[in-house]
Amino acid sequence: MADGAKIIDGKAIALECQERLRPAVAAFAARKGYPPGLGVILVGENPASAVYVKNKELACKKVGIASFHHALPATASSADVAALIRKLNEDRRVHGILLQLPLPAHIAEQEMLRSINPAKDADGFHPVSAGNLAVGAPTYVPCTPKGCMVLLRSTGSAIAGMRAVVVGRSNIVGKPVAQLLLAEHATVTICHSKTRDLAAEVRNADILIAAIGKPEMIAGAWIKPGAIVIDVGINRRADGTLCGDVAFADAKRNAGWITPVPGGVGPMTVAMLLENTVEGAQRYDE
Ligand code: NDP
Repeated sequence: MADGAKIIDGKAIALECQERLRPAVAAFAARKGYPPGLGVILVGENPASAVYVKNKELACKKVGIASFHHALPATASSADVAALIRKLNEDRRVHGILLQLPLPAHIAEQEMLRSINPAKDADGFHPVSAGNLAVGAPTYVPCTPKGCMVLLRSTGSAIAGMRAVVVGRSNIVGKPVAQLLLAEHATVTICHSKTRDLAAEVRNADILIAAIGKPEMIAGAWIKPGAIVIDVGINRRADGTLCGDVAFADAKRNAGWITPVPGGVGPMTVAMLLENTVEGAQRYDE
């Protein structure tokens, strides 16, 4: 088959999404006298987390969202983090709260996520948001899965009835993206580390979402001709360059559409965080 996959340009689509937010942000600020606000909590000195947080804050600035940065040392206790979350829960200028993960191992992550006011759960990780997503009620949708769906829709393909294979079952990517695909009437299979024959499952996929965290582990030969491939993975090769979970160069020969890494899902995650913050402000502070 020809080297024919179309590239899904996440960077360009994310920019369009962000541009669309600008007038909504300005209108909100004009009505209320203050802009939508995102409270950001970074605990410790994980360099990748610091970069992600910086990108999110820069993106906020670009569209006019206020970001309130709170850095806690790696030695902070669960009680310290919980106290900060309580403060942000009560701060009227803050419409979304981002607790950057991963947290240092001694902090009770699930407990911290549960202590965020569900009305400010811009990341969509609170069990209330996850439950609403599962029953199809309106809610905050986690940013990366929400971004994957925007990228999928950008191909113009009819998702209903397609066979979708999600590799990965994390609470932040695999499970919610599977729920979203199901809500769009795809026939969904979720694979994980105990899946017996991953290659065989992937070969059936009209839509493949890879969220594993293993560099290029999905071989190009596994991709069904014409499939839409959304690669969520961000991995660093030994030479320092980034790659996804899919062997991009080979997969491109079979796929109909494919996202690059970097420049695919990553920028969408940031754009969807901004969208969730604005939606939260409009929903709960009007
Ligand atoms: P997790 O480590 O939480 O989950 C990884 C999943 O992959 C698990 O469900 C695991 O299965 C599964 N898995 C591991 N090995 C295999 C295997 N050999 N075969 C099949 N399945 C396997 O990761 P996340 O979901 O948090 O993230 C996944 C990737 O996406 C990472 O590279 C991360 O950096 C990236 N990411 C990118 C984002 C973006 O904005 N682009 C945002 C969030 C994540 P099991 O459950 O059985 O252990």
